[in-house]
Amino acid sequence: MRYSQLFGKTIRQDPKDEVSVNAKLLTRGGFIRKEVAGVYNFLPLGLKVLNKITNIVRDEMNKAGGQEILLSALQNKASWEKTDRWNNFDALFKVKSRQETEYALGPTHEEVVVPLVGQFISSYKDLPLYLYQIQNKFRDEARAKSGILRGREFLMKDLYSFHTTEEDFEKYYERMKEAYSAVFTRCGLDAILTEASGGAFSKFSHEYQVITEAGEDEIIYCAGGDFSQNTEIAEVAAGKECDLGHGPLKKVKTIEVGNIFPLKTKFSDAFGLTFKDKDGSQKSVIMGCYGIGISRLLGTIVEVHNDDKGIIWPKSVAPYDVNLIELKSQMANGKTTSQNLKLSGELVYEKLREVGIEVLWDDREDVSAGEKFADCDLIGIPVRLVVSAKTGDQVEWKNRGEEKTELISIEEAIKRLI
Ligand code: ATP
Ligand code: MG
Repeated sequence: MRYSQLFGKTIRQDPKDEVSVNAKLLTRGGFIRKEVAGVYNFLPLGLKVLNKITNIVRDEMNKAGGQEILLSALQNKASWEKTDRWNNFDALFKVKSRQETEYALGPTHEEVVVPLVGQFISSYKDLPLYLYQIQNKFRDEARAKSGILRGREFLMKDLYSFHTTEEDFEKYYERMKEAYSAVFTRCGLDAILTEASGGAFSKFSHEYQVITEAGEDEIIYCAGGDFSQNTEIAEVAAGKECDLGHGPLKKVKTIEVGNIFPLKTKFSDAFGLTFKDKDGSQKSVIMGCYGIGISRLLGTIVEVHNDDKGIIWPKSVAPYDVNLIELKSQMANGKTTSQNLKLSGELVYEKLREVGIEVLWDDREDVSAGEKFADCDLIGIPVRLVVSAKTGDQVEWKNRGEEKTELISIEEAIKRLI
């Protein structure tokens, strides 16, 4: 992509109405733009990152047997009344048609997926079943000042699992833990598996918590990795010695990037979702649900991976593999030219693209080297390549987040990038 043609440009100043690091950096870098409080538009750079995260999530859900669907965002009021949540779900947006029909604007999808599955399940032979979707959710959040960490509209992956027995559910719950660990590791995050309250229908649920000062949650955890609880339910206090000898438990701020939840038969009972078992008896389907806040995950990556110059994307989710910069040389008459460059930006751009490397080429005329470098740091692509009169027939390689530069051949650069 030629930067000169990219929709969405960098800005130098922090946006006045943002307080969170993620919203400031993502806005300044040209990734997102605010629509209204808690609602953001994704520009090409932002969408590229969002899609990379989405594809990692999709890949891990597919590996765990998930089948992707897309459920409706406008939802049937009668279903929300059946589960007694029409008036009890605080953050529910309600919309009315011109015929005065009311709908829920989906904050979650149990009310849609359970009746839908009911149309296809009758026997134990139809189970287990794992369905997931990646879709915008709507929640009337009381406060929205954490940028894309807490949106009124945000992208979520939600998977629902349907089982004949508690044992089968538990086995899948453990499988989902593996899938979740894989997702967060691939996204460059260290997410701590944390016990949280399960609400009315089970003792525990689990959250995946990432340590950062920007977090709205708090956990008490053991750095040895064997214990973590959300402070909302914690049975222990910080400072207590870990039972396994890893030292005192610590209290830290965190962001919840995902959670997994036993639903037992709460929703199956509400909708009469049953199956005929081997012995001929009719039983309630046992369910679990598993969420990942994809746009929140993007914001969390920014909160964790940044410095005073901008974002530092992990390679796996970076919008491009390389930010290529051509520095033209100064002529006697003050004008700039690329004529005396042995390797032109254009040539390097084409060579990299030929082998499938994704390149953001800063081809802007009349923009100083300093500005190009500052934008490159702000946008945070993992590798910077520079061609100039000084680099001769080589390219200058620099990793984002490091100071060291090296002159290497274009072949060597390609080898490192693929
Ligand atoms: P929270 O405790 O942060 O309010 P939640 O427990 O209500 O979230 P779920 O309903 O289980 O969240 O949603 C699954 C995931 O979706 C959460 O783990 C989180 O990563 C993400 N999420 C929830 N609410 C928001 C929001 N308002 N904006 C962005 N992501 C969200
Ligand atoms: Mg929560």
